[in-house]
Amino acid sequence: MRIDIITIFPQMLEGFFGLGVIGQACQDGIVQIFVHDLRSFTTDKHQQVDDRPYGGGPGMVLKLEPFFRAVESIRKELTVEPRVILLSAQGKLFTQKIARELAQAPALVLLCGRYEGVDERVLHICTDEISIGDYVLSGGEAAAAVVAEAVARLVPGVVGKHESLEQDSFYSEGGATPPLLGPPQYTRPPEFESLKVPEVLLTGDHRRIEEFRRRAALEKTLKNRPDLLKG
Ligand code: SAM
Repeated sequence: MRIDIITIFPQMLEGFFGLGVIGQACQDGIVQIFVHDLRSFTTDKHQQVDDRPYGGGPGMVLKLEPFFRAVESIRKELTVEPRVILLSAQGKLFTQKIARELAQAPALVLLCGRYEGVDERVLHICTDEISIGDYVLSGGEAAAAVVAEAVARLVPGVVGKHESLEQDSFYSEGGATPPLLGPPQYTRPPEFESLKVPEVLLTGDHRRIEEFRRRAALEKTLKNRPDLLKG
């Protein structure tokens, strides 16, 4: 999978994709991530990417032409049709189900807004408008990192054992069974300052361990996200 990210602050994302599971996937060539500076798609001497909003009001709005040029230029490098996604607080809420759907695409282009947002006409070159949550960030970079990471780890070969994906929270979202939060995890030591690991996990009895995990995941879901169990 190829992921292109367009931002006015490419430095913010440098390093983020160089480490961990995604960093390894990039090194192995399973995922390719390119970060582009929006300013390099301007044509004026001052490399202006923003302007005042029509109709008045505070702040600045990111102009549409640099985004059009950037997406056009990336499309020319691709032999496949990308999903072009504007990160926006006004977008559709990002979920594991959407991450799974996006992981099927051969290429993603993520557009990061800043200031008061992006000229609405940019949506004409987008297939999706995605929000990572009901709050407002100062820019789309953190949101792009969230989307890219959540999607990339679902690309076959990125996470070594498929089993670890199956244990994750929300794994079955959109499936036949309700999505649960992941079960609690423990590691050594078995006891620390009177905090003990649940005994069943030390028994080696796989059936009982499975049962314990399922129940614990259900309890946690009921406590923290009862909305997931509705219906
Ligand atoms: N005026 C905009 C509004 O009311 O929706 C908020 C603009 S915000 C300060 C600047 C940029 O941050 C947005 O264009 C978007 O790219 C990004 N952003 C902010 N919140 C986001 C969220 N919840 N999800 C995804 N991107 C977000």
